[in-house]
Amino acid sequence: MIRFEQVSVTYGDATAPAVQGIDLTVPEGELCLLVGPSGVGKSTVLNAVCGLVPHFTGGTLRGRVTVDGRDTRTHKPRELADVVGTVGQDPLAHFVTDTVEDELAYGMESLGLAPDVMRRRVEETLDLLGLAELRDRALATLSGGQRQRVAIGAVLTTHPKVLVLDEPTSALDPAAAEDVLSVLQRLVHDLGTTVLLAEHRLERVVQYADQVILLPSPGAAPVMGAPADVMAV
Ligand code: ADP
Ligand code: ADP
Repeated sequence: MIRFEQVSVTYGDATAPAVQGIDLTVPEGELCLLVGPSGVGKSTVLNAVCGLVPHFTGGTLRGRVTVDGRDTRTHKPRELADVVGTVGQDPLAHFVTDTVEDELAYGMESLGLAPDVMRRRVEETLDLLGLAELRDRALATLSGGQRQRVAIGAVLTTHPKVLVLDEPTSALDPAAAEDVLSVLQRLVHDLGTTVLLAEHRLERVVQYADQVILLPSPGAAPVMGAPADVMAV
């Protein structure tokens, strides 16, 4: 579903690439973890998946990135938006409406869906993410875990094949983090969504993963494999 072939990204006039020689494959319908210390290039990899590198961040991309067969170099991020949805660390900073229900509907508005389809998808997503009781709540009054579920829901209503998340549990306590991770696991198993999740705390997320991609240090080649094999590295 996601494929990197010999990918390097260099920002601005930096002498060394932020990531280099990245070959990786994320199969359809798997929850894949991208782990490694801060600064190793995890966000760069995620931004390359959704086309922000090279179209918005100023990086120069070498090699090839394809998502669901689409080359991200020839497709702008908005031309990938029906395939890839992204969720960041701090949902509150990115919310664009006031209530849970409005936020879930907003993600679909640019897709030109019929009103009854949008209504149905909002209902399905509220149920799927356990948000039905919170539908009228002001976003600012939600807990961190609830906010993160709303941010995931706002993307899910577009039915993306791929969901990309950058440290979605970094601001959460362990119980809320578990809650968000088990929601993601359910999406993979029930809907066949492909999930790529970046995280620097391997131990928190590894039990939920089908595959782990470890970026050991800046510029080093990724180590890929089953969680137990990568944990042993
Ligand atoms: P991580 O997500 O693992 O912390 P990043 O991908 O954010 O790593 O960063 C990798 C390297 O690229 C860092 O040295 C960072 O400073 C640099 N970098 C990331 N984004 C940009 C950008 N938009 N412009 C310039 N340098 C960047
Ligand atoms: P519509 O596209 O008309 O809103 P549904 O929302 O009922 O119809 O979903 C159509 C199909 O998409 C169903 O088979 C359902 O299983 C699947 N589906 C539901 N939610 C998602 C999702 N978040 N991502 C991908 N497929 C989904």
